[in-house]
Amino acid sequence: MGIFGGTFDPIHYGHLRTAFELIELLRLPEMRFMPAGNPPHRERTVASNERRLAMVEAAVAGQPGFVVDGREIRKAGPSYTVETLGDLRTEHPGRPLCLVIGMDAFLGLPNWHRWRDLFGLAHLVVAHRPGWRAPTTGTLGELLVERGTARVSDLHESLAGRIYIHAVTQLEISSTEVRSLIAAGRDPRFLMPDGVRRIILETGCYARKDETRG
Ligand code: ATP
Repeated sequence: MGIFGGTFDPIHYGHLRTAFELIELLRLPEMRFMPAGNPPHRERTVASNERRLAMVEAAVAGQPGFVVDGREIRKAGPSYTVETLGDLRTEHPGRPLCLVIGMDAFLGLPNWHRWRDLFGLAHLVVAHRPGWRAPTTGTLGELLVERGTARVSDLHESLAGRIYIHAVTQLEISSTEVRSLIAAGRDPRFLMPDGVRRIILETGCYARKDETRG
């Protein structure tokens, strides 16, 4: 199964297209969207936890294979990816797990809590994002030499430990830009599914800077 973590503040077509291409290309039975609760390695979110979860649910509704997993949002306090993957591994002992992250997130991997342990739990699928290049030197460059693969079958033949880089269709959308556009009074139509747009417009959750601070 694929696990697509992110702050999703808000979710947009850049995330959804990436997930869709990967589910097809990697022949994954399921892609789990897992909104981060209180991300330890990122700044706090603008929309509340519940709102972000509702937007992800609206975004994936009706799409076969797309599933929402709200465990990190429901957990009090920070969630570390390595712990979440450990739980998933216990729940699904015989299934390969593929953690999907963007290239920008991959470049920050060495700052993650117990990041080397991730490879005992899951494969890493890195989605190319506009403006970011794969490292060729340093810790991550070496990691790619050691664990990188271009064969989809490698992700099915073992449960964890490989890194697959996919050049996803480049949609230059980011949550940060979507939020500024909305705060400037513009319409986010065609950047995200209508269900998500409706929640944003009805609740005004990005109309001011930070919903959680009121
Ligand atoms: P921000 O713009 O605030 O940094 P974001 O758009 O990167 O937010 P996240 O929720 O942090 O949103 O993203 C979750 C994951 O999706 C990250 O690993 C990120 O790299 C990836 N991602 C986000 N936008 C795109 C995109 N347009 N194309 C491919 N991957 C993306």
